[in-house]
Amino acid sequence: MASLPTHDFCTYNFSMTYENSLSFARQLDAEDPLREFRSRFFIPEVEGKEAIYLCGNSLGLQPKSARDAVERELEHWQKLAVEGHFEGRQPWLTYHKQFKEPIGQLVGALPHETVVMNNLTANLHLLMTSFYQPTPDRYKVLMEGGAFPSDQYAVESQAALHGFSPEEAIVEVHPRPGEYTLRTEDITRTIEEHAGSLALVLFGGINYYTGQVFDMEAIAKAAHRAGARVGFDLAHAIGNVPVHLHDWEADFAVWCSYKYLNSGPGGVAGAFVHEKHADSRLPRLAGWWGYDEESRFQMQKGFRPMYGADGWQLSNGPILLMAPHQAALAIFQEAGMENLRAKSKKLTGYLEFILTSGSLLKEYIQIITPAQPEWRGCQLSLLLPRIGKKVFEQISKAGVTGDWREPDVIRLSPIPLYNSFEDVFRCGQILSQGIRAVEGEGTSHEI
Ligand SMILES: *Cc1c(COP(=O)(O)O)cnc(C)c1O
Repeated sequence: MASLPTHDFCTYNFSMTYENSLSFARQLDAEDPLREFRSRFFIPEVEGKEAIYLCGNSLGLQPKSARDAVERELEHWQKLAVEGHFEGRQPWLTYHKQFKEPIGQLVGALPHETVVMNNLTANLHLLMTSFYQPTPDRYKVLMEGGAFPSDQYAVESQAALHGFSPEEAIVEVHPRPGEYTLRTEDITRTIEEHAGSLALVLFGGINYYTGQVFDMEAIAKAAHRAGARVGFDLAHAIGNVPVHLHDWEADFAVWCSYKYLNSGPGGVAGAFVHEKHADSRLPRLAGWWGYDEESRFQMQKGFRPMYGADGWQLSNGPILLMAPHQAALAIFQEAGMENLRAKSKKLTGYLEFILTSGSLLKEYIQIITPAQPEWRGCQLSLLLPRIGKKVFEQISKAGVTGDWREPDVIRLSPIPLYNSFEDVFRCGQILSQGIRAVEGEGTSHEI
């Protein structure tokens, strides 16, 4: 397996204590070995000023290198037309192969275990078609309660295709009363309870609402012990937290590229199929691009899949989406995921400190994301009952871009590639002002 690059210039010290001041935030920025990467991105503006963009968990910012990458392919199309499949810097016929190395580093996969194709929900359907093969005895799918709606609809409709109602087929694990996140022991116990009837465990790597990182290794082990297959939706995990799909023995995984991977709206997605299934005759929905490439153009009858994840491809690749993906992944390779994760822990830790160090923010905001750095990524989910929506509108006007998730959560995600400690400090100031504006100047708390 390709190993992660090691960058020895990065030495973050977690024993440090934070301070809620602009000068302190600026000092952290000055000491940040990754600070230069911010200039690789376009930072949007709100009312003529750079936004405090804390929404990269929803749509990552545009790398300045994306445009050149797209223009290069437009030019190949213009000048080479059909020959572009075979000529140019990166011929389109094999364009998708360049992603195996950078994606493999991000998800912990061998080159033949990943493929970049389609969109996230489409890939989820393609892989569930192969890995959810219910029988009259073993037909249940276990997932997190409150999974992203698209995943819920995908699972419901897959169950229905096999003649099961969602009520019979879907088992959800919910937090305990009074809690917001799931305990691993509750997940693994529920898997055990349904061991005889479970066909598939499908879990997020990170829950989009709470920002909780799930213990994918423990979930995969429990699923396999129960005789079920296991798949992960890495939409919020890839490019955010360390993932080791091969070692964890996930059967499959899917992800999108427009969140932490900064590859553009509706960007091309990806999928992982574990090596142990690389040569299998799993049933699948097939297309010509998944056909054995040695003889693909003989155009014969009878589908013969490529070895590995490539065998799930349907169509020739969307080159104009793959071009910005390539540009965005090059930045990850340069920065190094380990370094990004180290900064991310410190940056999100600073946001947590800002939200809990003054009495005003502490009184109004409850952070429902886990407090332990290893069980969260960039995102903190702020529960603001009653006034949340109004506060969200206030901070949006004042230049903080986060997002609102019904019924009462603001999600904020400082991104180590392009957010600064100053962004986080200023976000705290603006949140305090927002709460004062909503609650009236009578609010007497210090900030
Ligand atoms: C963002 C996200 C999606 C979106 O699906 P698309 O097919 O990319 O539109 C689906 N599932 C999860 C868990 C997500 O976070």
